[in-house]
Amino acid sequence: MTDTIFALSSGAPPAGIGVLRVSGPSACEALEALTGSVPPPRRARLMLLTDFRDSAPLDRALTLWLPGPGTATGEDLVELHCHGGRAVIAAVEDALSALPGLRPAQPGEFTRRAFENGRMDLNEVEGLSDLLAAETQQQRRAALLMSEGHFSRRIEGWQAALLNLSAMAEAALDFSDEDDVPDDATERRITSSLADLADELGDSLSAPSAERLRDGIRVVLAGPPNAGKSTLLNALVGREAAIVSDIAGTTRDRIEVPAALGGTAFLFTDTAGLRESTSDVIESIGMDRARAAVEAADIILWLGEAAQLPRADAIQLAAQCDRQVAGEGLPISALTGEGMEQLIALLLDRASKLLPSTGDYALHERQRKGVRLLRDHVQAAAGSADLLIIAEELRQAREAVDRLTGRASTEDMLDRLFAGFCIGK
Ligand code: GDP
Repeated sequence: MTDTIFALSSGAPPAGIGVLRVSGPSACEALEALTGSVPPPRRARLMLLTDFRDSAPLDRALTLWLPGPGTATGEDLVELHCHGGRAVIAAVEDALSALPGLRPAQPGEFTRRAFENGRMDLNEVEGLSDLLAAETQQQRRAALLMSEGHFSRRIEGWQAALLNLSAMAEAALDFSDEDDVPDDATERRITSSLADLADELGDSLSAPSAERLRDGIRVVLAGPPNAGKSTLLNALVGREAAIVSDIAGTTRDRIEVPAALGGTAFLFTDTAGLRESTSDVIESIGMDRARAAVEAADIILWLGEAAQLPRADAIQLAAQCDRQVAGEGLPISALTGEGMEQLIALLLDRASKLLPSTGDYALHERQRKGVRLLRDHVQAAAGSADLLIIAEELRQAREAVDRLTGRASTEDMLDRLFAGFCIGK
């Protein structure tokens, strides 16, 4: 029989209220043992909790009895909204652990049960995990949509289309077994539906990246030594994160500084100056890393000559405009603040194109890979005239869907995912 688990689901005590959740087959008995009766289901009721071992009062708590399977975990669930004091929570937890069949929950175990009981798919679990970790409003909005199943419902739509197409392909195959050639119209219908589905899957890949949303838009400051990169980085993030000096080659390695501007998370990278040649081995490694950073950047701020622009989409800046004749590009001075407002507006505008707008979810690399695999099988099916191949590709496409929803995930992968949750979630 499944264990009944319990944990404090609200924040660490002391707090105004401490919510203990109990989930599993003995949840109701546990409630009865502490209160002496079972309240009507789904109705909040203020009750005295007593220790069943010595009848001593523990706390007065708002109790909820939620019979499964229509609950968050899919199991019988009890909630005890106790006073959030350390000793109160400790006493109630102690009484709960003394009950037969009850034990403290592992991190993420409530959510794992919800997943295993089909109350959530893997995408909703990941959305929930992101929602709990969200620090910016953008992260919160995208994670909420994912946890509410907006992406999961799209997958269900693809799954229904695949089942339908598989059935059509199998029926056409049976037909051809009887030497009665299926009419071309059926095959054409299957092929064109497959092509439409492959297009739709391809389009869905343009959803913004959840990793980028979480870790920040990668902005790389590049240019020759002494151009003013470190000074600009410090001005952008509002603190002394990079060393400023007029000795060329001071920034020998990349410095990564996360900062939020206008509610958007950015990850700024100050690179070693790109000089034509250097005899310093460490500086030259720094320059290699600078080139790699430039390649991986979402946005490049270029503080060098316009003729040496490292990438066509780099933002050209005319730095130190307070003391130098402004060249090409946006004139800025990290020292006087000139041009900084325009620069930040420009960064936010570029970033907004890479991030989910209101009403969009973002996709993790796992999900993107899953959709790509699914699309490849659907495309292969669409490109074949052989019904046997079409049916086989469709079978593999359905497997890809199962991996996407988590129905075919390995224990290992699930262990890792749920270990990242806190206890009580
Ligand atoms: P980096 O090598 O590109 O990182 O350049 P730094 O930020 O270290 O700056 C090189 C020198 O230029 C330092 O002495 C800075 O104080 C100076 N500097 C940087 N930005 C400005 C600016 O906007 N105005 C003025 N007047 N000096 C600056």
